[in-house]
Amino acid sequence: MNKLGIFMNFWEKNWDADHAKYIKKAAEIGYDILEFQAQPLLEMSDEKLKFLKALADEVGIELTYSLGLDPNYDVSSPDEAVRLGGVDYLQRIIRQIQKMDGTLLSGVSYAGWGTPNYVLNDKRPLLENSLKSMREIIKVAEECGVTYCVEAVNRFEGCLINTAQEALDYAAEIDSPNIGVLLDTYHMNIEENSIGDAIRLVGNKLTSFHTGENNRTAPGKGHLNWDEIFGALSDIGYKNRIVCEPFVMQGGEVGRDIHVFRDLIDNPSEARIDEEAKYILNFEKEMLKKWNLA
Ligand code: MN
Repeated sequence: MNKLGIFMNFWEKNWDADHAKYIKKAAEIGYDILEFQAQPLLEMSDEKLKFLKALADEVGIELTYSLGLDPNYDVSSPDEAVRLGGVDYLQRIIRQIQKMDGTLLSGVSYAGWGTPNYVLNDKRPLLENSLKSMREIIKVAEECGVTYCVEAVNRFEGCLINTAQEALDYAAEIDSPNIGVLLDTYHMNIEENSIGDAIRLVGNKLTSFHTGENNRTAPGKGHLNWDEIFGALSDIGYKNRIVCEPFVMQGGEVGRDIHVFRDLIDNPSEARIDEEAKYILNFEKEMLKKWNLA
């Protein structure tokens, strides 16, 4: 069966939190993977990294990492100092991931998270900057055994890679065994004509997959067609990770950055979110069974 994961900020309103607590919680609920923002790794001592990795091994959790790249490190920037600073920053993050024996970094990791606040008539120059940066970053990813997964995100969160086709084109230009593609149902719902066709288009290049409803609640609670989604994963014989990435609480850095301005579930206490996390795991396992992926 595909490994199933959950994103730590389902529970937490700030990006950095008690990782150890959520490694244990994810395992107790029955998940295989805990994913969290990669930036805090840069602040952690080698001892802390070792401690978290040992804990994850002990409870049988794989740690994977996502990134909404700080615009101060925008590797698509026309400002060469910013761009080079971004290359160095991402290379350092990859090296921290290697210390944890990690193999996956995804997210908006190829440009600053967000969109230009000026008239942009042609994004190709920004894309060229990003590709130039990535050719340097990917060398470190290859050295470290980390797959660098570009995530197609909706137009309000980035301008370079909005669709499965754009992600594929980007990966093809980098041409490395360590570049991957991540699709996310929430973003696809906004940008793709057909979510099923987008998944089939990426096919065996699909390295990781994020689930979330049209409004980023738990799969099955909104109006996305999960039979279409899991049917398409079945069509491509998808065997890689599936990580659920719901954001349901207003407030904090997460509320600000994800634009959550109301609670999307009633009384989102820790116990209530635990319950919802159990529901998601069960829902996804049932869908995998239904579509012969289990
Ligand atoms: Mn995502």
